[in-house]
Amino acid sequence: MDTKNKGFNTKLIHAGNLEDPFGSATVPIYQSSTFSFRNAQHGANLFSGKENGFIYTRISNPTIKALEDNIAELENGYGGIATSSGMGAVSSIYMSLLEKGAHMISTASVYGPSRGLMENHFSRFGVEATFVDTSVLDNIRASVQPNTKILFIETPSNPTIQLTDIKACSKIATEHGITLVVDNTFCSPYLQNPLDLGADVVFHSVTKFINGHADIVGGIIVTKTREFYQKIRPLMVTLGNNMDPHQAFMVHRGVKTLSLRIEKAQENAMKIAAWLEQHPKIKWIKYPGLASHPQHELAKKQMRGFGSMMSFEIKGGLKAGEKLMNSVKLALLAVSLGGVETLIQHPASMTHSGIPGEEKLKAGITDGLVRLSVGIENVEDQIADLEQALRNV
Ligand SMILES: *Cc1c(COP(=O)(O)O)cnc(C)c1O
Repeated sequence: MDTKNKGFNTKLIHAGNLEDPFGSATVPIYQSSTFSFRNAQHGANLFSGKENGFIYTRISNPTIKALEDNIAELENGYGGIATSSGMGAVSSIYMSLLEKGAHMISTASVYGPSRGLMENHFSRFGVEATFVDTSVLDNIRASVQPNTKILFIETPSNPTIQLTDIKACSKIATEHGITLVVDNTFCSPYLQNPLDLGADVVFHSVTKFINGHADIVGGIIVTKTREFYQKIRPLMVTLGNNMDPHQAFMVHRGVKTLSLRIEKAQENAMKIAAWLEQHPKIKWIKYPGLASHPQHELAKKQMRGFGSMMSFEIKGGLKAGEKLMNSVKLALLAVSLGGVETLIQHPASMTHSGIPGEEKLKAGITDGLVRLSVGIENVEDQIADLEQALRNV
């Protein structure tokens, strides 16, 4: 079905679905590593690109392609490239867009391993990177070098919930011939479409909101143009960063309820954030939906909703934060985010522990910062849980 001019929810359910000879309502799992050719000429045509079709699952697979077409349409892009994980997407992007002597500018408080992969490994191959607070555009302008190839931003960033102006970044990137890459994991295509705001490449850890059920790990890249698609896809295939058919099936099943899940989670998050903000034991809270968020106006402009991620600090710093995390009963003490269940974690000792102390502080990750991913449980139960835990602090 052609869903190009249909609404977002219709796209969620129908975009990219295969024509199935049996009329299957869902995209079946093509659990096959290889696909037979009709004859030698057919095989040769597939390899030369004269004909479209499937050869080998690391290269492409019908179940995976259906998901790629679905998310590409949700992001208004040219094409999707599904990967084994979000980091499979990051490594495929770095590998295809950077080379020895190249330079990247990145949001300082990006997902920890996105930064670690660059600082600890790409540095070994002669790639340089500058990590700055990209919410301040002058920091980006001041970091541009003649060899800058990528501006890599995450907004809202992890775990500081700091926003970066995508449109303004696109202007800077265009002026200097730099590729703008956006990690859109925290928003999903339901809340933010970076390609529409001028980004060249957008990617997701589909492990989070897109799949939404905490039962698989996966990633996807969507490019704005055919040119970027053809630059990145071969590297994903050659590196073996591909998704597998069963994973793709699970994500396809999860994505169908994306808007329902996010609407509920962000409605709950707004109530929890407002409640936490007035709680006497809270030192500060960052949630884009609160008027107190320094970039509340940008959030209203760039996002369609405020999402369900927040971070806050309790009076008493790390010790108090530990007590809170050890006292919650409904929220799971776990990393990851964007699922139907509420999760709480401590970035300084968990997801971002690999970043050196001083750099962590520069990126805004204080020792007392607690990150909350709000799920779709009843909000009164979520608040009661935090209330009893805060009473213990
Ligand atoms: C989880 C995450 C990643 C990495 O994704 P994986 O699926 O865990 O490999 C990248 N960016 C952000 C913002 C994330 O939350």
